[in-house]
Amino acid sequence: MNINTKDYAISENKLIKIDSFSTKYEGKLEKEKGLKLFNELLIKLQDLQALLYADSSKALLVVLQAMDAAGKDSTIRNVFGPINPQGCKVVSFKGPNSVELLHDFLWRIHQNVPRKGHIGVFNRSHYEDVLIVKVKNLAPEKTIKQRYNHINAFESMLNDEGTRIVKFFLHISKDYQKEQLQERLDIPEKLWKFTMSDIQERARWDEYQHAYETMFEKCSSPKNPWYIVPAERKWFRNLLVAQVLVETLESMDLKYPAAQVDPKQIVIP
Ligand code: ATP
Ligand code: MG
Repeated sequence: MNINTKDYAISENKLIKIDSFSTKYEGKLEKEKGLKLFNELLIKLQDLQALLYADSSKALLVVLQAMDAAGKDSTIRNVFGPINPQGCKVVSFKGPNSVELLHDFLWRIHQNVPRKGHIGVFNRSHYEDVLIVKVKNLAPEKTIKQRYNHINAFESMLNDEGTRIVKFFLHISKDYQKEQLQERLDIPEKLWKFTMSDIQERARWDEYQHAYETMFEKCSSPKNPWYIVPAERKWFRNLLVAQVLVETLESMDLKYPAAQVDPKQIVIP
């Protein structure tokens, strides 16, 4: 039994209630079977990445967004770890530096969009500019309102120029976040990840959830869908992300470049 990725996709601009999406996979697929499927998908993903690289006419951009401690890093490690690093780059977007702040919000994003033949993974992204920036009033309301359209136009331009985009929201509950943050405090090797901003942002949980809802409502399309990933079962989270990536790459009509030579005519001396 495979999972139906469409069940998790937001492919059109519509108002959704984030609470109506489960944070835990509760379907029939068992973990053991899920792990087996995941390993099969990883092999497919590796083959498709090699094809994307050889084809070199298109790129894939993967956007990862989530509340703190939802597992973005672990998703990246599990799903993209086995991929050939020659054709895959992860970029983490933190708060903008002083130079970035002197430019429009998409300036630093555009520079990091993957080149053709590559997979680019955004650990946080341009969507922060309508999430944290909205929640903490870091820009005027009017500016933020305009950004949804700018993001859609930007993504649409990337599509036209050969970049496919898939966007994942790792969905967790507030209780689960508490457990994960507590783990950062309890496990010495994880402590370095804890910052006081984790507590500050957590206090604005509801405002963030609402900002996410607005983002889904305004920036979802068949070409650039969001996937709401129930992220509290890590095996399922990894499986869903990997399956969406495989399906997306399979739909990109990738081809090996035409042969430059007729192999039958060539004898290697
Ligand atoms: P981890 O889950 O490991 O904590 P992280 O992605 O949260 O990873 P941090 O260094 O803890 O990394 O946090 C980065 C911070 O930068 C986040 O709070 C994020 O909201 C913020 N940020 C990212 N982009 C922007 C932006 N455009 N404007 C303001 N803040 C931003
Ligand atoms: Mg953090």
